[in-house]
Amino acid sequence: MYRYFLFDLDQTLLDFHASEYKALGIVLKANGLSYSDEIYQDFKACNKALWLEFEKGTISREELFTRRFQEVFRRCGGDTAKLDPLKINEDFIRTMSVNGVLMDGALECVKKIRNGIADSRIFIITNGVTMNARGRIASTGLDRYIDGLFVSEDLGVAKPSKAYFDLCLKQIGAPGESCIVIGDSLTSDMLGAKNASLCSVWFMPEGDTESAIKTYGIDYCASSFDELYEILGRWAEARGGR
Ligand SMILES: [Mg+2]
Repeated sequence: MYRYFLFDLDQTLLDFHASEYKALGIVLKANGLSYSDEIYQDFKACNKALWLEFEKGTISREELFTRRFQEVFRRCGGDTAKLDPLKINEDFIRTMSVNGVLMDGALECVKKIRNGIADSRIFIITNGVTMNARGRIASTGLDRYIDGLFVSEDLGVAKPSKAYFDLCLKQIGAPGESCIVIGDSLTSDMLGAKNASLCSVWFMPEGDTESAIKTYGIDYCASSFDELYEILGRWAEARGGR
């Protein structure tokens, strides 16, 4: 019987922020503009505010993409007069998708699961844009160690909905009791596992862990990849693995 490890992607296996930071620097510098930590922090804050407006329906996707780079242009040194914010946005998205950054120890942990836990199958479950997720996974070599990828954009449903997990399990052909969800987010990964009645590991827990464990029905917590591997090994063993 297979054991299915369902890994969240961002801030669990890959560092989304590090990719974003790197890609923004590459694109701005390629266009003769300055770049600093401050510019990145401003970009993040502005981006977050614009996504909220987009979700409320007050601005379009194109406006969001245009305005976030108009803001960046205002903040960085260099000649921005001839630059098209939408074109820069496209370059940024493309650059980010080929610049995946692994969380420290992520690749080793995934390899250890594949080689050390019998009948293990590793899948990635992520909310987001398919090109971005797939590209970043491939650029880190992580793709060689996983059995599949479920991106909300492809599925039309997202974590934490039960429908998302039901669809993943159906496509894998896995019974729920053979699956374990590993992720850093309470509101998408842990709540999703609870909604779908799956076993869960909260990776890199923080804050009031005790109340979170109760609220989300979390089975295990792991503060490092070593601890995670230990837990997953025991979980698999309890299900007849080695
Ligand atoms: Mg995450």
